[in-house]
Order: sequence, then structure tokens, then C-alpha cells
Amino acid sequence: MPASGASPAAAHGGGVPRESTLLGMPRNMALASLVIVLTQTGLIVGLLVANRRRKRLAREQGERLRFEQILTEISGDLVEASVETLDNAICHALEKVRVMMEFQSCMLFEHVRDTQVVRILYHTDAAVREAIARREAEIPMPWLCAQFQYRKAIPLAHALQDLPADAREEQDYVRVKNIKSALIIPLHSTDGTTHGVSFCTGVAYREWSDTVISQLHALGDVLSSSVSRHRAEMELRLSEERFSKAFHASPSAMVIFRARDETILDVNESWERQFGYTYAEAAGHLPEELGIYRSEKERLRLGSLVDTVGSLRNHEITLRTRTEREVVAILSLETISIHDEACYIAIFHDVTDQRRVEEMRQSMVHVSRLALVGELTASIAHEINQPLGAILSNAEAAEMLMETENPPLDDIRQILADIRKDDLRASQVIRHIRTLVRRAPLRLLPVQVNEVVLDVLKLLSTDAQRRGIILHGDLAADEPEISADRVHLQQVLINLIVNAMDAMKSNGTTIPIVDVRTWREGPHGVSVSVRDHGHGIPEDRLPQIFESFFTTKVEGMGLGLAMARSIIEAHRGSIAARNLAEGGAMFTFTLPSGNGNGAGTRNATIGRSS
Ligand code: ADP
Repeated sequence: MPASGASPAAAHGGGVPRESTLLGMPRNMALASLVIVLTQTGLIVGLLVANRRRKRLAREQGERLRFEQILTEISGDLVEASVETLDNAICHALEKVRVMMEFQSCMLFEHVRDTQVVRILYHTDAAVREAIARREAEIPMPWLCAQFQYRKAIPLAHALQDLPADAREEQDYVRVKNIKSALIIPLHSTDGTTHGVSFCTGVAYREWSDTVISQLHALGDVLSSSVSRHRAEMELRLSEERFSKAFHASPSAMVIFRARDETILDVNESWERQFGYTYAEAAGHLPEELGIYRSEKERLRLGSLVDTVGSLRNHEITLRTRTEREVVAILSLETISIHDEACYIAIFHDVTDQRRVEEMRQSMVHVSRLALVGELTASIAHEINQPLGAILSNAEAAEMLMETENPPLDDIRQILADIRKDDLRASQVIRHIRTLVRRAPLRLLPVQVNEVVLDVLKLLSTDAQRRGIILHGDLAADEPEISADRVHLQQVLINLIVNAMDAMKSNGTTIPIVDVRTWREGPHGVSVSVRDHGHGIPEDRLPQIFESFFTTKVEGMGLGLAMARSIIEAHRGSIAARNLAEGGAMFTFTLPSGNGNGAGTRNATIGRSS
């Protein structure tokens, strides 16, 4: 019988030492069980973690997919939105994102250029939308505006704490709006505007993962480009509206025609009035079908001009209206694009009346010039008779010398040279008179004012001598040059000098001198004055003196001064008359000058008292 109290191992007999036990199990067994339990626990924990990770990833994946789906929907809505519906579409998009991401608010804003102000354009909050409508949604945010240059998203997990100390205005905004977390993303649009989107939470704080930031950045880009497109469309529409208003209200006739075949696409009311065709009659037709060009040659000439240059500026053209009336127009033409089709817009400025007035003016100038030449017949006759007389006596002298036994050839040669000189002088006078009476339009060429004065003084010298009057020239030494029509200028001077001599005829002056002075008037002008010592102009007549047909002379026409003024004004100059305290009158005209140098005067006296 085994002794009582003996251990079970001892009771086994054999004298082997008994192993220690755990919970009554053999040690090895206990350890193995522990390892198994621990491994199982580890496996279970691992499984749980993996499961949770999988779930989180699945959730994130789901959120990402949902966001991408929303973004696709938003992009589609915005692309389809018209100018009128785009505002609503953007608000709708922001609201969709707000609900999905559980934000307190979302907004799209722009940085007001060159300021520290942010202007809210769209907001999910109705009260802010009202402020936007009242144009009261501008908030000073200097710190934020300064951050735009870095073009980086600004994630604020704890908005108030994360904002730096100097962002006072931004902190105030966060406090007033009770914002917990905020994400602000600056967006640089293609039109150079800085837009931005911001998303805020108001209940809980949240971290902004890179994924969320890039998702919301993509949303911001879509919204910003829609706003830019919207603006561009609005501007285009506005400019189209403005263009259309200007086109239809313009007092100048305008026509738009297709560049490739010249088909008329549109005409304005002035064009209808001027050319006598209605829009319905003109649109869809070619100008030549309406008989607007005077000839095919003219059409081709204009066509090739437009084809080479692509535009025209102030091109004078004569066109025909429906009633075959000829219209002189100044044409300007520009290329424009209408619905991607190259077109021309042509603007006609009707100058028919001006041209007619100009023609009348020229006829009057001509008439008055003829009258002047008539007045100067005596001088002209003298000018021509003198060389003719000299030629005759020289020819007689030569004949006599030829009859001598040994004709002095040197003397005869000298006589022949004199004859040639006198002949040239006579033909020069005739040429001068011919230019003076020729009817010619104003031709502006560089002219030395002094030369013109000297020419006129020479022409009038005989007349002056006959009247016992001295013509005195006091001419600018730097020989000012102007752009003028020499013959017209001569006419003005002849008029003024003849009038001056007339005024001295009656009053028996003791100073029978007409002074003609030229001088530079500032950097851009040249002045000429004609001063006499005559009876002067009655003060009450001074205002009328340049009016046509005003004359106090029995045989006067009253055209000289009117013509003088119109010639001077056609040169963009001015003319004035005044009485002098010491007696006599002075007429002064000023013309725009060309280039010149130096200053001073030189004297020339032509004519002498008889
Ligand atoms: P007309 O010489 O044919 O009369 P003008 O137009 O040349 O025409 O001159 C108009 C009028 O102006 C003259 O009739 C004269 O009364 C006045 N007038 C012009 N020049 C002078 C002058 N130098 N002194 C006084 N009166 C002048």
C-alpha cells in the first residue's frame, strides 16, 4: 500500500523527480496552452485591426468615389449652365458639397486686385447671399490676401489657434462666425484673377487630410473656371450689346459684309437712309448688285486695296445710291470676326456737302483772284511792257550795229544776252499771272514764308510806285518754313497789301508806307502782318470785316478778306484785324510752321515813292 501523503508522481514509483505544474497541468503543457491562447488573441486582435482598417479604407474609398461622383455631376451642371443659370448652379454645387462633407459653410471669393480685401462671390449661407446681392460682401483680410502669393492651401484644424497673431481681422471673422476648422484654397484663374474657396466647420474640429485638400482643390478649380467663363461671356455679351447699339445708332452709314464673297450681312439705319435700300433689300446681296460702285474698275481697285491691307483709314470714295445720286464718302474699313467668320465693317462719313462747299469756295477764290488780277492790270502790263520795250530797243540797237562796217561782235553778243534775259523776265511774269488765275485745289507743300512775301512785294511794286507808296518788308532772318499752298498764300498777301494801299489813297497820309513783317510765333507758328497808315477800319465795322460781300469801296466786291480768312483757316491758321493807336490798320495771320532754326529779322525795301 502506498504510504499516505505521498505525491502522485511518487506513487508512480521509479524515483523520477516530479515536474512543477501550472493549474495542475504539467508545465510544458501549460506553456503550450498559453502560447496557443496568446497566438489566438494576437490573431483575433490582428483580424479586428485589419477589419477596421479595411472598413476605414472602404469608407474612405466610398467617400472618395462619392466626392468624385458629386464633382462629375457639378462639372456637368456648370458646363451646361447658361449665363443666366450659372449663379444658381454654383450655389447649388457649394450646397451639395457642404451637405456631403458636413461643413457649416462653403464659399467662393475673389481677391480684389491691389487691395487687402476679399469679395465673396458665392456662399452657402442665405444671409451672406443677400449681402452679395447688395454688394456688401467685401471683407478686409490682409493676412489672407498676403498668403495668396504662395499659392498653397491653408488648412486650419483649430482655426483660432492656428491663425498667426498678426491675422487679427481673420481671427475676428473666425470668432464672429464661430468657426472651428477651416480650409482655404487660393485659385489662380486664367484671366489673372485670384479666386479662392473656403470650407468651414462649426460644430466639431477636423483635420484636413491631403486627400480632402486635393479633392476640394479640384472642386475649387471647376468653380473658378466657371466664374471666369461666366465673366468672359458677360463681357462679350455686353460688348456685343454695346457694339450693336453703336452700330444702329451711329450717324455714320455702316455696313457689315462677309470677307470671302462680300455678301452684305447687316446695315444700319443711317446706311439705309443714305443709300435708299432697306435692310431686307440689302442683306444677302453684293454691293455691286445694288449698283453701289460707280464702275467695276472702282470695285476691283477698292477690293484689291482691302485685300492687301485688311483695313482702310479715311479713304475717299464716290458711291451711288438707289436713286443714282453720287455720294462722296470718307470710308474706313476694319476686319472683324462674327461667329468665327471673317467679315468687314465699313463706315462711311458723308462729305458730299463739304466737298460741294469746298468747290464753291474754290470758285469764289478763283473769282476773287480774277478780280484781283483785273485790279492789277496796270502793274502787270507794266511788268510785261518793260522787258518787251527793252527787247525792242536792244534789237534795234543790234540791227544798227550790224550795219556798221566792222560790227562789234562783243557788244552784239552782250545785247543778245540782254534780250534773252528780258524775254525770260516777261515770260516769268506771264507764268506767274497764269498760276495766279489758274483754278487749282489747295496743295500744301513746304514753303518759305519770306520768299512768298518777296514775290508778292515784287509783283505789287509797280502798282505801289504808281501810287507813291513804299512797300517795306521786315522779314524773319531764320527763314521760317511752313506747309502751305504758295499761290493761295500769295493771294492772301496781295489782298491785304492792295487793301492797305487803298486805305492810304484817300486819307493823304504823310507816311505812305506799307509794312510787311514775318516772325516766328512760338515754337510752332509763323506770323505775317501787313500794317498801313491809312484811314483805319470803323470800330463798329470790325466784326463784319471778314464777312463775304462786306465792302465800303464803290467798285469793291467784298470777297478779298472773306477769301483770305477761308484760305488761312484751310491752312489751320487764324487771321485778325485791328486798328492802331497811331493810325492805320494792321492785319495779322498766323500759320502752323515747319522746322526752322535761329531767330531775328532782316530788312528788304521794295518800291519807292514817286
Ligand atoms: P473789297 O476790297 O472788295 O472791298 P475786302 O474783303 O478785301 O473787299 O475788304 C472789305 C472791306 O474791308 C473793304 O471794303 C474796307 O472797307 C475794309 N478794309 C479792308 N482792308 C482795310 C484796311 N487796310 N484799312 C481799312 N479798311 C480796310
